[in-house]
Parts: sequence; C-alpha cells; structure tokens
Amino acid sequence: MSVSDATNASPVSTGDAEPPRLLSGAESILEALIDVDHPRKVAASRWAAEHLTDPSLAERDHSCTFWAEGWKRLADRGMFGLLADERHGGQNLELCAALLTIEGLGHGCRDEGLIFAMSSQVLTMQLTLQRFGSKDQQDRWMPHLLSGDAFGAFAMTEPNSGSDAYSLSTTAERTSEGYVLNGEKAWITMAPLADVFVVFATVNPDVGRWGITSFLVPGDTPGLIVGPNMPKSGMRTTPFANVRFENCAIPESARIGAEGAGASMFSSAMEAERGFLLASGVGALQRVLEDTVEFASSREQFGQAIGAFQGVSHPIAEIKLAHESARLLLYKAAALQQRGDASMMAAALAKLGASEAVLSGSLTSLEVHGARGYVTEYEVEREVRNALGGVIYGGSSAIQKNIIARLLGLPG
Ligand SMILES: Cc1cc2nc3c(=O)[nH]c(=O)nc-3n(C[C@H](O)[C@H](O)[C@H](O)COP(=O)(O)OP(=O)(O)OC[C@H]3O[C@@H](n4cnc5c(N)ncnc54)[C@H](O)[C@@H]3O)c2cc1C
Repeated sequence: MSVSDATNASPVSTGDAEPPRLLSGAESILEALIDVDHPRKVAASRWAAEHLTDPSLAERDHSCTFWAEGWKRLADRGMFGLLADERHGGQNLELCAALLTIEGLGHGCRDEGLIFAMSSQVLTMQLTLQRFGSKDQQDRWMPHLLSGDAFGAFAMTEPNSGSDAYSLSTTAERTSEGYVLNGEKAWITMAPLADVFVVFATVNPDVGRWGITSFLVPGDTPGLIVGPNMPKSGMRTTPFANVRFENCAIPESARIGAEGAGASMFSSAMEAERGFLLASGVGALQRVLEDTVEFASSREQFGQAIGAFQGVSHPIAEIKLAHESARLLLYKAAALQQRGDASMMAAALAKLGASEAVLSGSLTSLEVHGARGYVTEYEVEREVRNALGGVIYGGSSAIQKNIIARLLGLPG
C-alpha cells in the first residue's frame, strides 16, 4: 500500500531554509557532540513541531493508527534520503549530520511512533539496500522509498529466534528459477504496509550463520502473508506484524549479494540500528526534560513550586545527566562510523546508554507529574510506554552488555 493511496496530503511547505551544511571532518563531529542545540537539530525540531503536530495523536495512539500524511510530509522534506545517494535523490549527509536531523525530529514531533518507523526504515532496511543491493535493486526501490510512495521493512526476528538471531529457521530452497521461501518472521516494524521487505533466510540450515542469505522481496509476492497489525505497549502508531512465507517463490535476482553473506549484512545493519535508532528517542527525552522542568516550576504544593523541593529537582537533574550522556554516546558511535573506525563497542554502549536513559528519564517525568503523569489525558504516560521497546529492539540491554563484556575480554 502506498502513502499516496492512503492520504490526500498536499505538498508541504518546507518552512525555514535548511541551515548551512556542517563543517566537514573533525569540526563537524565536535559540533554535533558538544552543541545540544545544534542549528541543524533545532531546524529539524522546529519544522517537526510545525508540520508534524497532529491533534488526533492521542486518538491514533489509542487505536494504533499510523499517520500516513505525516509520513508523506517527512518524505517531501527529504527525510528518507538523509543517508541516500544523490543519484537516487538522497542528501548523502555525513552520519552525524543525519543524526542531528533525526534527533531534532524526535524532539519536535510528539508522534514518536512515526519517527521511529521512519528511522527504522532509513537505518536498517534502506541502509542494507544501499550498502549491499545490486544497482537494479537500488534503482527499482530507492526512488520510491525516498518519495514515500513505498514502505520498506527489515525482517530478521522469528518466533523462535530473537536474541539468538543466527538460529533462524526460515529457509530459502534453491529451484531452477530462484528460491522458495518458507518460515515466519516476528515483530516486524512497518510490515502491515510494506511494499518491499529485506528478508533473511538460510539456504543451508546445516552450516549455521554461513547459510544465512538476504533477499529483497516485494510485499505482493504470492506466498508472502502479512498478519494483522499487532497492538503493543508503546510506539502504537508504528505498524507492526508477523510475516509468513508459504512456498513463496522469488527469482534469483531477488537475492542481495552472495549466498551465505546475510549474516555479515545483518551484523552491519545491527551496528547501525544499535548505534543510531535511539537518536529520535534522545531527542524525545530532551522534550520530556523540558516538559518536566516546566511542570515542576509551575505546580505548587506546600506553598511553593514542587521544583523547589530537592526531592523533585535532583531527579530532574538526573534526567539532564542521562540525556547528555546518551547524546555523547550516540555521537561518539556516529563519529567512529563516520571516520570508518571500528565502532562495535561504541554502538553497544550507545544502544544501552540511550535506551536506558530514555526509559529512566520518562519514568522520572511521570513520577514528577503525579497523577497527571499517570492518566492518559496529559500524555506523559505515553512517553514511558514509547520508551519501553528501546531496551528490547535492536538487541536487548542484556545482549548489549554481553557484547560489551565480550569486547572487554571477559570469559563466556
Ligand atoms: C518495537 C519493536 C520493533 C521491532 N522491530 C523489528 C523489525 O523491524 N525487524 C526484526 O527483525 N525484529 C524486530 N523486533 C524484534 C527484536 O529485534 C527482538 O524482539 C529482540 O531481538 C529480542 O528478541 P525476543 O523478543 O525474541 O526476546 P528473547 O531473545 O527471547 O529474549 C527474552 C529475554 O531473554 C534475555 N536473553 C536472551 N538471550 C540472552 C543472553 N544470551 N544473555 C542474557 N540475556 C538473554 C533478553 O535480554 C530478554 O530479556 C522488534 C521488536 C520490538 C519490541
């Protein structure tokens, strides 16, 4: 299903002109690291607050409804091309610059499910296609993904293979014309709308990760069956479903790269997801902090603003610490990748630090808001629900700690 089918959105004003491109190299990295109010981020936040504020958000959150018009606005603003090649209409930004934009969107847009869906497509599905897809595969899909006319999904997890991702059991059996897929993928972001899936399957279950191969499968391929949109605790505006493959025949040209190369493609995608998918969440955490400071400054009990009580002000100071720490970890991981340096440790630290910061900061905010934090009307509890998934997707916090421990040389 395409966005243009789902919305009658008219072209969106692009608002203020884009800020100047970042300085290149070390200065751009330093700017991103130290400037919490970096001009690129502020511009994206202002644009999002103006163009991605939707009065029906609370209702859509309740009914798990995706905002197709918001998606189209993101596409018209060029957000799906942040990291894409110019030949496909992308901006081909340096990583730190792209993340500043995504962080700004997370700060300015209260529909976190929308920005999560966008970042997920850009950082996992599109990056895999860009890095490893053939010219034909890229030319067929990238322009449509960038224009918002097509949705993409990334399907690795299975009902019996989550953290242990390489134990997947979806098979790709060789035929004279290509492959036949059989198996099931679970918890796939954007699956209910996806026009194209990056799918991981094994061509030989006996050789473990060396059999894992990736494929680009159009959503309308016979035998590809998408389950119903699954309601979930947070990010409820992001469509999410299981996908079954029942004798799903695909041509050889659907394969991405070589047979057996899928595990390294997945690993590359996971490093991007770990390092950067939380960028919008870090932006959202700053908004949560600002909302909390405002509330604690105006809400009075015992004859004074509650923010004057140390029992309230110190936890808020801790949100600030969590936010700045998460930002530093995020941009350090981005800086290393931007420079072409090894970033596995940095990406695991960024994922762990940012997801835990967003969760703990949102919980503190809820507590500071008292009953107003707990009831749906004030929309503070939504921030907590949205933060919950961050410690699971892209590898749970325990899995990030496993990676960190292994890189530290600990036994196990
Ligand atoms: C919002 C959301 C979006 C998602 N989107 C996608 C998507 O687009 N594509 C996709 O492929 N997948 C997606 N997923 C799936 C996600 O990648 C998996 O949920 C995740 O990898 C964890 O797998 P699992 O849920 O099967 O949990 P399990 O692997 O069963 O883990 C359950 C618990 O056991 C712990 N555990 C497991 N192994 C170990 C270990 N070795 N050491 C210590 N603790 C361990 C985990 O930390 C966790 O607490 C999404 C998930 C969520 C929540």
